[in-house]
Amino acid sequence: MTLIPLKLGLIGFPLGHSLSPQLHHGALKAMDLPGEYRLYPIAPLPEGQWALTTLIERLRNGELAGLNVTIPHKPNVLALLDDMTPLVRRTGSANTLFTHGGRLIGDTTDVPGFLADLESWLPPEQAAGKKALVLGAGGSARAVVVALQERGWRITLAARRYTQAEELAASLGGSFRILTLEADQLAKSSDTSLIGNTTPVGMFPKEGYCPWPEELPLPEGAAVYDLIYNPAETTLLRWAREMGLPARNGMGMLVEQAALSLERWSGRVVPRAAMWEAVQ
Ligand code: NAP
Repeated sequence: MTLIPLKLGLIGFPLGHSLSPQLHHGALKAMDLPGEYRLYPIAPLPEGQWALTTLIERLRNGELAGLNVTIPHKPNVLALLDDMTPLVRRTGSANTLFTHGGRLIGDTTDVPGFLADLESWLPPEQAAGKKALVLGAGGSARAVVVALQERGWRITLAARRYTQAEELAASLGGSFRILTLEADQLAKSSDTSLIGNTTPVGMFPKEGYCPWPEELPLPEGAAVYDLIYNPAETTLLRWAREMGLPARNGMGMLVEQAALSLERWSGRVVPRAAMWEAVQ
């Protein structure tokens, strides 16, 4: 049987450091599936509107088999879809596009990708605590909060702009405690069992920075999950390990969300090990 090559890709801007082609090419090879995964850098709107619409049309007409979407286009593609999954409706962003019965559908694998990696790692003591502190209130915070809400966590949001956290809380519904990122505020979260960093603070090339104030020890009973994966050990994760706390970076989430997208496009189980191998 001759398989039609899966033409896949990623829309975003900028895309210079993306690991997605490596992840997908590694998995396609391991699955013995012909295909390619290309980067489609498209400028932010309004400049990129024509390029975005044209590329989405290539997916709609079957020339492409699937597209991932990242910053800044996750919310921008919503208006171009025929339908979206309930999770996209809830999070307001789509990262995986495909067609079904001639209709263009948007899905998000960020929420299940984060949950799969978190739950494969989180030590039982912290999992039982169910009190999470989420640092940042942007796009990935939304996915992380929805994921934690699905599992019944009580959530504190801490953001440098209090109003941004308020808006996130209001749009998702439910009850949240809201703090800023100052030490006197974060000191109120000493009973936290999980800290999730969704800010880019500490990411390459500014590895020296940390979203947590240096003068405040991390909560003693917390596990720390940093969505950043470059560097592999951020300053936040180093401080956590120095205190003997469980700490994990965002590479597992990146792998899981990519694997779930490829499963959607290929209809096959994706070997995570092949993706890990491709990026290590
Ligand atoms: P985003 O939508 O821009 O949100 C970033 C959040 O961090 C906002 O609340 C922002 O506040 C805050 N922030 C930015 N700079 C800050 C600073 N210097 N101090 C305090 N807060 C600051 O970005 P995102 O899409 O959520 O991505 C955030 C990080 O998560 C990035 O490092 C990204 O690589 C990582 N990520 C990883 C995965 C994965 O699979 N592992 C998935 C998604 C994202 P303002 O609005 O005030 O700037």
